[in-house]
Amino acid sequence: QRVGYAVVGLGHLSLEEILPALSQSKKSKLAALVSGSPDKMQKIARQYGIKPENCYSYATYDKLKDNKEVDVIYIVLPNSMHMEYTVRGAKAGKHILCEKPMATSSKECEKMIEACEKAGRKLMIAYRIQYEPMNRKVQELVRNKTYGQTKMIEAMNCQNQGDPNQWRQKKALAGGGSLPDVGLYCLNTVRFLLGEEPSEVTAQVYSTPGDPRFKEVEENVTFTLRFPSGVLANCATGYGSYNAKRYRVYSETGWIQMDPAFTYHGLKLERANADQEGTENKAQVNIGEKNQFALEMDHFSECVKENKRPYTPGEEGLQDQRIMEAIYQSAKDGKPVKLPAVAKQDAFR
Ligand code: NAD
Repeated sequence: QRVGYAVVGLGHLSLEEILPALSQSKKSKLAALVSGSPDKMQKIARQYGIKPENCYSYATYDKLKDNKEVDVIYIVLPNSMHMEYTVRGAKAGKHILCEKPMATSSKECEKMIEACEKAGRKLMIAYRIQYEPMNRKVQELVRNKTYGQTKMIEAMNCQNQGDPNQWRQKKALAGGGSLPDVGLYCLNTVRFLLGEEPSEVTAQVYSTPGDPRFKEVEENVTFTLRFPSGVLANCATGYGSYNAKRYRVYSETGWIQMDPAFTYHGLKLERANADQEGTENKAQVNIGEKNQFALEMDHFSECVKENKRPYTPGEEGLQDQRIMEAIYQSAKDGKPVKLPAVAKQDAFR
């Protein structure tokens, strides 16, 4: 029996990735739709064979409570709406899978965790990279010290974000600009690879003056994360330059690179080290591509069925949100910001 999902918000990500991925997943299936556009929803419902009684508006959303076919609500709305729909969803007795960034402030993240705990429901943040096989391979190489101790990481996620009227360009809806939208991939992936939490962050922000896209939210952010093991991770994100979606891990005897690392398709993993004569041995690591969204949803479905804690729970989203707040603070004050140590029981893995 596959776990039933209600997908909330029928924008680009839902239509282009999540709904098709549900058709490919092994443990998850589409059971209901929630949208503010009845005509669009009707068309999508017909396409995916969803009964009219399993189609909800934002006003009738809470009635999901009575729908036994729905186990999980997948929230794919603008960032500022994540908290409300998580809290309402948990109150309706459903497990919540919420898109990244988790919310627009750490206070909101805390409320989401609390609501799900209170309702006895699971909460997972949709960090698809953590379920993607090549990025997981890099994690294994780093954590096994295949090339010795890791010393530095460079990570970059940039795209030229076009429309000044889109919700991503509005502070109230997005929470911020490039940082929570795409820079988050650098932050979350570096933490995922290393399995440790940064102790300090230094950052800078720059937006092109007069560009209408950056009236409310930032264009570029660079930040350096300092880890207790000594690793320094240099990250950069931007909304005004052409695509760069890559990282490279520098260890004592070799490097590991993903370029691209953060796209849905075409990921490429390369590594290099020197043999005993000092000759460089460079190679591509080939791992078959899998649908990241299907893997992520199937993981959550397994957690729901087997009553397990998700690999990327709400606490993982909260930690990123806290670090992003420290990044903005550092850029504002022009000095490093220390981050509190994360208590052992809160460590994610
Ligand atoms: P989108 O703009 O394409 O879709 C957003 C949906 O929300 C639309 O259907 C829109 O009608 C609806 N909506 C409801 N109230 C709205 C309001 N007040 N203003 C604007 N839209 C409103 O956005 P998207 O790219 O699908 O992103 C949705 C979420 O998914 C975001 O949180 C985003 O960060 C996340 N996302 C994640 C990935 C990933 O790879 N995991 C990729 C893209 C987006």
